[in-house]
Amino acid sequence: MSRVALVTGGTRGIGAAISVALKEAGRTVVASYAGNTAAAEAFSKETGIEAIKFDAGNYEETVAAVNDIAARHGAVEILVNNAGITRDAVMGKLTREMWDAVIDTNLGSCFNLCKATFDGMKAKKFGRVVNIGSINGQAGQYGQVNYAAAKSGIHGFTKALAQEGARYNITVNAVAPGYVDTDMVRAVPPDVLEKIIAKIPRGRLGTAHDIARGVAFLTADDADFVTGSTLSINGGQHMY
Ligand code: NDP
Repeated sequence: MSRVALVTGGTRGIGAAISVALKEAGRTVVASYAGNTAAAEAFSKETGIEAIKFDAGNYEETVAAVNDIAARHGAVEILVNNAGITRDAVMGKLTREMWDAVIDTNLGSCFNLCKATFDGMKAKKFGRVVNIGSINGQAGQYGQVNYAAAKSGIHGFTKALAQEGARYNITVNAVAPGYVDTDMVRAVPPDVLEKIIAKIPRGRLGTAHDIARGVAFLTADDADFVTGSTLSINGGQHMY
């Protein structure tokens, strides 16, 4: 049986590697994206994975997309809440808009997607939810009050929902990546990035594949005794 998997932000960066890993694990994968249609189309062409556009931070759009997937493929049984953005600034320059955008996209999306899929998982008595957190949600980060709050929220969200899901064979876990070589990290100034790499015991940035391996494990059918946990994949930068 090919279980249906939805990966938000699954067409680029870490999400793209997760989509491919889940497809390789035999899942029917749908990857969502926000607006970069060129990247999504190139990804679909290369991998054969369906890409759909909706704003994961918008509740109505999310419910419509999840219902559409259910009608065409069946209920989503594996959900990877990976969509994320940064809008970095120190508190003096952080605007309410930057706060809202980051909270809605990184944390609000977890609520939207879980709310839209949870009943379907309960009915199937099977669910695997993986929420992508961050080392910066665990340790905090200068200039990232909004992002650190959203990612830290994901870790609490995960532990609470895991308690609700357990009796239905729905596991809910988080993966906390360290610094991974994607567009998001390439936006960090080179001198800052050099200092970050110097603090990673493994001596390199992570790859999207490093993160996808962890997600593949947590979404496996037989990973059913792992729930409410956070898997840190960070080259030893933060041992939590
Ligand atoms: P990228 O910027 O490379 O890709 C982000 C993906 O999310 C894109 O597919 C993008 O779509 C999608 N996306 C953004 N906003 C929305 C939205 N509102 N609705 C739906 N999809 C959206 O990010 P990364 O691969 O670097 O990061 C992936 C996740 O990992 C994020 O949650 C991030 O916070 C987290 N993370 C990343 C780290 C890193 O070092 N890179 C470290 C720790 C955590 P589109 O292509 O249309 O823009």
